[in-house]
Amino acid sequence: MLLGHPVAHSLSPRFQSAALRAAGLDVAYDAIDVDPSVLAATLGSLIAEGAAGNVTVPHKEAVARACDRLTPLAQRVGAVNTFWVEDGQLVGDNTDVDGFASALTDLLGGPPREDATVAILGAGGSAAAVLVALSRWPGLHIRLWNRTAARAHALSSRAAPQARVYDTLAGGIAGAAVVVNATPVGLTDDALPVPIDDLPPGAAIMDLVYRRGETAWVRAARARGHRAVDGLPMLLEQGALAFERWFAVTPDRTAMRRAVTD
Ligand code: NAP
Repeated sequence: MLLGHPVAHSLSPRFQSAALRAAGLDVAYDAIDVDPSVLAATLGSLIAEGAAGNVTVPHKEAVARACDRLTPLAQRVGAVNTFWVEDGQLVGDNTDVDGFASALTDLLGGPPREDATVAILGAGGSAAAVLVALSRWPGLHIRLWNRTAARAHALSSRAAPQARVYDTLAGGIAGAAVVVNATPVGLTDDALPVPIDDLPPGAAIMDLVYRRGETAWVRAARARGHRAVDGLPMLLEQGALAFERWFAVTPDRTAMRRAVTD
């Protein structure tokens, strides 16, 4: 199941149900809209049922605090997007980290160059996962910019002290080989997190936001010759990795993708 608020338009039930069908597992994956006021009670019932699932906004940090045990990755990110119950204990993991790493590697055709500069916009839960993913590639120059600078400083000190925080967006992205949007800008309209004219020449663009027909930022950047991808490949991969944690079975990634693109 998927815990979030609100979750009406989430794609996860579609691709997880496709993976379950393809694996021949008689298990249901549903989205549950959980108001923050009833999160603790909901988790209590899920533990009693021995349930497993995913967590999305705004519960990722709260579920991390509620878990009996966190994987080292979830602990470092400070957020849980995948959970299960083991011996009556709630265990939390974070597959956004490897979901992001996989999508970035696909976009670049390999891991980022060792001395590349990567700029992250945002300092919320998804920026934390991106930061932790990037920190595992040694030699990268990681830059962080956030609308509220104090939050970027706090995130960097906690999760990746080698990341450099910039107070201006222009400074943060100057000369970057990769620019990652980890803010919700462009989720509900065609707003661009960075004007296309301001992108460094040749920069690869990774938008964590996903929309039917891709985001306006990805479409506009690609039209100008930038390599660009939206959040769908990361979303699918974090879901596939969660499926592996729950069932120790490799899911049918093609069926998962088809369920949300056909
Ligand atoms: P979050 O924890 O709420 O953080 C949002 C961040 O965006 C904060 O740093 C916030 O800045 C910044 N922000 C919000 N509105 C902004 C604006 N109008 N202009 C500039 N900055 C703004 O959210 P999250 O969990 O990190 O998720 C962010 C987005 O990533 C979501 O909308 C979702 O679409 C996407 N996402 C995708 C995947 C995937 O698998 N593809 C996974 C997770 C998330 P302040 O600190 O100043 O408030």
